[in-house]
Amino acid sequence: MALAYDDTNIFARILRGEIPCDKVAENDHALAFRDINPQAPVHVLVIPKGAYVSLDDFAANASDAEILSFTRLCAQVCTSEGVHLAGGHDGFRAIANAGPHGVQEVPHYHLHILGGRVMGPMLA
Ligand code: C5P
Repeated sequence: MALAYDDTNIFARILRGEIPCDKVAENDHALAFRDINPQAPVHVLVIPKGAYVSLDDFAANASDAEILSFTRLCAQVCTSEGVHLAGGHDGFRAIANAGPHGVQEVPHYHLHILGGRVMGPMLA
């Protein structure tokens, strides 16, 4: 079952063009932009254009085309930001926070792509 989606969240407003973002890339079904409060030299958020609350909602309910577009945009971002392993770079961390236990702040699914430095311990 799809989760209830609140279309007043800040990423929904970015998708509607109501507030700006520092866009990195987009395709038919996904948008990538720089995090407003970066935690690493590379900190990009990749979001689906569809209304999904979290990774589990997206993975269960998005179409194959949406999932493929989202995943390809992640690869494009890793390449353009110079963190992709296949390009001989040093890698990155991808994080999806979900719900209260995941300390998710914005209830529109987003994947954080962080790179450009060695990350600290994963769990906090
Ligand atoms: O995963 P979580 O929901 O906690 O993270 C939300 C992220 O969205 C934060 O890293 C925050 O800096 C970012 N953000 C943003 N632009 C906004 C509002 C929040 O990049 N306008």
